[in-house]
Order: sequence, then structure tokens, then C-alpha cells
Amino acid sequence: MISSATVFQKSFYLKNERSSYMVTDKLNQARSLEQGLSSSEVAASRAKCGSNILQEAKKDSLWKKLLVQLTEITSLILLFAVVLSAYMAIAFDGGWTKPIVIGSIVILNVLIGLYQEYSAEKSLAALKDMSEPTTRVIRDGNSQRIAISEVVNGDIIALNAGDQVPADGLLKKVNGLTIDEALLTGESEPVEKSIIPPQEAPDSIGDQVNKAFSGTLVTQGSGIMVVSAIGMKTEIGKIADLLNTTKRQKTILQQRLARLSLVMTFIALISGLFIFLLGIWHELGSLIDNLMIGVSLAVAAVPETLPVIVTISLSVGVQKMARRHAIVRRLNSVETIGSVDVIASDKTGTLTQNKMTITRLWAFNEKPEMIDAQQPLSQAATDLMRLFGLDTNAVITEDHSEGDATELAIVRLLQQHDLSRVAFEKDAPRIGERPFSSEKKTMATLHRLNNNRFLLIVKGALDKLPLALSDTDKQKLTAIHDEFANDALRVLGVAYREFDSKPQTSIEELEHDLTFAGIIGLIDPPRPEAIQAIKKAKRAGIKTIMITGDHKKTAQAIASQIGIYKEGDLAISGPELAQWNDEALIKNITKTSVFARVSPEDKIRIVKAWQQKDKVVAMTGDGVNDAPALKAADVGIAMGITGTEVAKGAADLILTDDNFATIIAAVSSGRTIYQNVLKAVEFLVSVNFAQIFLMVGSVLFGWGTPLIAEQLLLINVLADGIPGFYLSREPGEARTMQRSPIPSKQSIFSDGVGSRLFIRSAIYTVLTLAIYALGRFILTDNNSAVGTTMLFLTLALGSMIDIYPIKTRESLSWTSLKANSALNIALLVATAIVVLAALLPPLQNSFGLVTLTGSQWLISLLAVFIPTILLEINKKIHSRIEATVVPPK
Ligand code: ATP
Repeated sequence: MISSATVFQKSFYLKNERSSYMVTDKLNQARSLEQGLSSSEVAASRAKCGSNILQEAKKDSLWKKLLVQLTEITSLILLFAVVLSAYMAIAFDGGWTKPIVIGSIVILNVLIGLYQEYSAEKSLAALKDMSEPTTRVIRDGNSQRIAISEVVNGDIIALNAGDQVPADGLLKKVNGLTIDEALLTGESEPVEKSIIPPQEAPDSIGDQVNKAFSGTLVTQGSGIMVVSAIGMKTEIGKIADLLNTTKRQKTILQQRLARLSLVMTFIALISGLFIFLLGIWHELGSLIDNLMIGVSLAVAAVPETLPVIVTISLSVGVQKMARRHAIVRRLNSVETIGSVDVIASDKTGTLTQNKMTITRLWAFNEKPEMIDAQQPLSQAATDLMRLFGLDTNAVITEDHSEGDATELAIVRLLQQHDLSRVAFEKDAPRIGERPFSSEKKTMATLHRLNNNRFLLIVKGALDKLPLALSDTDKQKLTAIHDEFANDALRVLGVAYREFDSKPQTSIEELEHDLTFAGIIGLIDPPRPEAIQAIKKAKRAGIKTIMITGDHKKTAQAIASQIGIYKEGDLAISGPELAQWNDEALIKNITKTSVFARVSPEDKIRIVKAWQQKDKVVAMTGDGVNDAPALKAADVGIAMGITGTEVAKGAADLILTDDNFATIIAAVSSGRTIYQNVLKAVEFLVSVNFAQIFLMVGSVLFGWGTPLIAEQLLLINVLADGIPGFYLSREPGEARTMQRSPIPSKQSIFSDGVGSRLFIRSAIYTVLTLAIYALGRFILTDNNSAVGTTMLFLTLALGSMIDIYPIKTRESLSWTSLKANSALNIALLVATAIVVLAALLPPLQNSFGLVTLTGSQWLISLLAVFIPTILLEINKKIHSRIEATVVPPK
């Protein structure tokens, strides 16, 4: 049997759309618009046309990735070493141990590199899936939200303001629908849509007013469309190749580390060359031997893991953030969010619970009443609630409720007193509506009364109701309004106007000279976790400000309850803000903690004013009009539950729980990621330098080269690469959120990193030279192999375990020791390999090590702890100095 939807699609697919529009059976169309496709039709369409996804730029093949890894500077130097040693093996019968060991290290290095890249890619792909936009589709007669990728040809899509158009399609119904098509046409003005095809053949996409195109944004109104093309067949699909060619930009931190690593590579190569020349000059071994040492030192000192560390830290971090309800849409913003100085947050739903309850009401000329669900409403109160009920769209049934929190509170109160919106409407059917808008902050409905008169009802923000009131009444009203608002109640007023005959003009034109009926006060309790989060933000040097569409007095009262507003702060409203020029705003911005009745344009001004003060600003938003402010902010944050797709598309971060506390958790993660990168720099760079000083120092002392290529390389892979990688999984420290934000432009060597790096390098240089001298000259009679083995153990194990003092800025504790189990396991494995290399004869031979006596082992193992102890002492001294300086505010 052919379903009505299929008939409809068939007519729809007719080549000439004008004629298809004419011949489509109107009845079928109406039915299919309500029914949509059936599940089997969806499956069939998907089987035929595939999924609604744009092909991404082709991923690099494994071979290409391998080639990239092999052509990295470290691999090239290592490969050179393999060739060199192989040549030695063949030409001088130098044995195959060296080429095999170095060859294995090349393979290990490449494998680690590939794994790191793979895990970073995987987590970023998972993140992309999480922030996939959704759309409303009608299928099997039900309206449901699905991911845009699930849309199929022939689907009926309900478009609403704030939505992203999921595919290309023909519009079948429009209600004031305007769409921003800048993505395709570059035209910034939104296009007004219609169901009538253009008279003339359209020249461009912009002229096709009866169609909507994938990826464009609904700015106003609503509409129904039938999908005609999906995925790469859409207009955006046709230019997707162009979009794909834009390269992903490196984050600031990535760029900085890439630069650092370049400098380090240069130093490494110079030192390799230097040690080679020194070896020749001092006539230490053959030319090839010296070349080998020079090459190994260069390899050991090149910090190849450094640039990858940021990518890994960022990808591990964003995964953690996603688990904590914050989805990062742009990697760059992770770094920025750690530096946020100011968070401008919406009130309703983010700082408060968005669970409204009417607790008080006042019918004009009566006494204000407290609402008691047990007690019946007075007659005046019932009359007032009737007006509110008639001018409300929310619905509560046994199994579901629909509507905004303010209106649901109205319906709930009616239900509690056995009143019903539907019953009211039977007596006064609604014949027109002007929907609520955040700009107007009111909503109006028009009703036909029994006596054939007509009633206009307007409810909303009291200051936005055009009332006909005497000055004395106005004063009385303001006093009672403020009394409600000062108790943190959201105040909604209602007013009406009657007409003898059906008004012929638009509802908007009727909205004046209204008769005031009364007000209700709604409580929306703060989120308890928001109060804690604001405190935490304050300790972390972050100022939270409230931006709300609500009344100033209500906003101020809630802001005081939750710790945003304090004595001496300013609270201002949109109209007051309009009186301030930019200069005045910048001057007063630091003192103002509440902005009420703001418009989306005000939000941009607020962001800009803070940025003028060199502050990093995070701003929340949910509506279509919030998009520019979200883009203007350093970190734009969209609400996952109540937010529109447009807001989400403009944001850097999406809160899947709409909760303010999540923003603070995200800041904490951002700071932790940054700290972990710094720790990795400290860990990797300092030992690299120490190795250079050790080799050069030893040759200058006339001791020859204390470590051979294989040993240097093994230390490099085991002690640097693997533990450094797991630093990215280090959990945040308590003090991360007890200090001021890190300025985004701050050098990576500030904040004590530079000095700690220097100290650690110095410790290792002195320690390794000393242990070598001890083993070679004091414990034995010039046995360089013993000196080398002791030095190898101390350097390899010492530079692994002192990751513990580096990974926490606090004094070492049991908690921090066991905090990162992946790191602990990696270290155990690496330690075992180092110890086995020094113990087992075949490995000893491969790595040029010898069997040590018990006392030599003991001394080496004790020396292993010296750097850790010294670093801990340094920490203690520093924390004492820090304690005497004034802590950040
Ligand atoms: P924010 O989330 O930014 O804190 P908000 O969501 O409270 O602000 P709006 O929803 O724009 O801001 O509401 C602003 C004002 O509009 C409210 O103070 C209230 O007076 C009025 N209002 C809210 N909802 C309705 C509604 N459904 N009908 C009529 N008026 C409403």
C-alpha cells in the first residue's frame, strides 16, 4: 500500500516545482505534513540516499601518518644513527647490537607517536558527536527531536526560531519565517521566506524564497519543510570540499610549545655537533663513535613529545569536561576558559532552578495575599488568575507538561485550586495571540466573550505594560511591586481592555490604555550548587556578574542571596545602561554586578567594556539574538537544554545541564590542562638540558663520554616520553582554584616554571657527574663501565620518579602519589625495564652496562631519590616565601 507520505513525496519530486506545487493533492499534503514518514519509509529512504552528513576531509592513511612520524626530526636523526651503525656493522664488523637497539627505539618512538595521535583524534571525534545539532521532525504522526545526521529525504521538518536548517527542502508552511543564509550567500540580512515559488527562475540561492537550505539559521518565526536533499547533495554539500580545506588552526599554547621545541631542537643539534667535535679533538674513540654519540645526544635532547603533550592534554581535558556537562566546541577555548576573569551569567535556569511557584498575589485595590494551596482563593484572586490563565499557553497533563516555567507556575496554581485554563477558554475562546518575546517581555491574547464583546489581555513585566493609571495608583503599584521584588520574587502583571466589536487591527496596535488587574509574585529558588560555585569563583579571582531579563529589584535580591551582589555594588537596568555612554560604562563596569532587563545588544556592550579593561570574559546565552554576544565574548557559553541551535552554534562551550556550577568546573579543568602542560614542559626540558651539560662537562673534564648512544636513547624513550605522556591525565590540584586567573599572554616560563626548570637541570648535571666520578674513580680504579652503569641507573630512575614532586605543587602526599594510576603503572613498567637492562646479561650487553656490586647498587638507588628530595625542599622554601606575599584577591 502506498502511504499518503509517499504520494506526497512523489508529487514533491516532480521536476518542475511550480507545477508540483499546483498538482499536489492538498488533502494528502495536509495529512502528510501531520503524519510525516513512517519508520519503514525512513529506513527505505536512508538505505537509498544514506545519512545526512557532510563528507569530512579525507583522513590521512596509516602509511601517511607513519611517514609523517618517520620524517620528524628525531626519527630522522635516529634513522641516520641506524644507518651509521649498520654501516659500522658491515664495514668494520662492529656487531649488530647497536643498529638493532637503535632500530627498535625508532620503532618504539614511532609507535608512541602514532598512539598519542590516535587517542587525541578519538576523543576529539567523540566530542564532535556530542555537540551535533538536533532538529524537530514529524514521523509516524509524532513530533520528535533527532540528530541532524538522522534526517532523510522526504522528512517533514518543523523549523522554529533558533534552529539550524538540517537539510535542503521545500517550505510548505511559513509563519513569519526568516532565515539567515549568510553561510551560503554571504548576505548578512536574513531572508523572509514564503511558500510561493519565485515568479522568475531564481538566479541564486538567495532568490529561492520557498526553499530552506542546510546549515542556514532560522532567525524568526516558524515553518514546515519537506526535505529534498541531504548530505553532500545539499547546497552546502556542494561547497563542503571548500570548507574542508580550511586547516585546523593550532591553539596559542600549541604554537608556543612548537616554538619552544624548535629552539630546543636547535640547541640539541648544536650540542650534538659540539660533542662530536670535542670527541674528535680529544681523540676519544673513532670518528664513527663520536658521530654516534653526537647523534644520540641530539636525539636525547630533542623534546619531540612537547608539541604532542598539548594536543593530548587538551583532548584528555575536553573529554573530562564533557563528562562534567561542559562540551567544548573549539579547542582554543579550553586555554581561554582557564584564564577567564569575569563570568557574565544568565539568571533564570543557570543561577536559579527555573522551577517557579507563585507565592503571592495582589488583585488591584485589594490587599496583597499570600498563596496557600490549602486555602481557597478569594473571589478577587480567582478573577485575577482567570486573566493570567487565559493569557497562558502552558499545558500540564498527567504524563507531561509543556511550556515555560513562568506559565507552568500559573497553570499549576490554577490546578491546585480546581480551576482550569481550558474551562476559562470555553467561556472566552481565544481568537488571536501576540506571542511572548524577550524583547517586549509581555504576551497578549484576544478573546471572544459570551456577551459578544471582545477582551484583550496582556501579561508580563510590569514596566512594559502600557497601563492607564493615575499617578497615585502608579505609586501604589510601584510600592507593592518593589515589596514583592525585594523578596526575590519574579513579578508578572496582567492588564486588559474590552471592545464592543471585533477589533480589525493587529493585536500590537490594541496594546495601550490597559486597565490594570493585578500582579503575581513567583519564587525561583537559587541552585544551591551555584552559591558554592560563586564562592569558588571568587576564591579563584573570578568575578561573577548577573545578566537577566528580569526586573532589577528581583535580580538584585537573588544576586544578594547567592553572593553576586554585595553592599556598595551597582545594579542597573537596560534603560539606565542606555544612559551611559561607553566611557561611563567602562568606568563603572567593575562596580556593577547586576544588569537587569538587558537586551542582546546590551550584552555586547558589557562584554566589550570588560575587554577594554583587559579582562577575559565568559558570557552565557540561549536565544537567537544572543549569538553576537556569545561570539564577542572570549568564551561564549550556550545552554544545552534551553538554548537554541543558533546560540549553540555561536558558542565555544555548551552546558548540557544549563548549570552555573558547570562553568566553574570547566574553568577549573581549563586551568588544570594549562598547569599539566607546564608540568610536562618542566619535566621534559630540564632533563634534556642536564643531559647536554653532563656530556659536554664530562668531555671537558677529560673523562670522555659517560653515556653511549643506546643508553641515552633508552632513557629518552622510557624516562621522558612515557611518563610525560601520562602527565596529561593528572587531576587538578586544590590550589588551581585558589589563585587568580593566569593571564592568557603570560610566558610559559613565568610562574616559577623557569626557575624550577633551572634548579632541576642543575641538580641532575651535578648529581650525574658526581655519581659517574664516584663509580669510576672512587669505588673502582678507573672502571668507566661501572661509572656509566651507576650513572645510567641514577639518571634513568631518578628522572622518572621525580615526576612526583613535579606533578604536584603541594608537598608530596599519599593522595597525590596514587592520584594518577595510569602514570603509576607506566612508571612501574619503565622502572622494571631499566632495572632489567642493568641486571640481565643479554640486555646488559646490548646497552653497554655491567653487573654492579651490592654497594654500587645501593649507592645508585639512594642517589635516585636525591633530586626528588631536593625538589621537595625547594617547594617548601617556596611555599614559605609565597605565604608571606599578599595572596591574590
Ligand atoms: P535570564 O534567563 O536572562 O535571567 P529571563 O529568562 O528571566 O532572563 P525573560 O524570559 O526574557 O528573562 O523574561 C523577562 C521578563 O519577561 C520577566 O521578568 C517577566 O516579567 C516576563 N515574562 C517572562 N515569561 C513570560 C511569559 N510567558 N509571559 C509574559 N511575560 C513573561
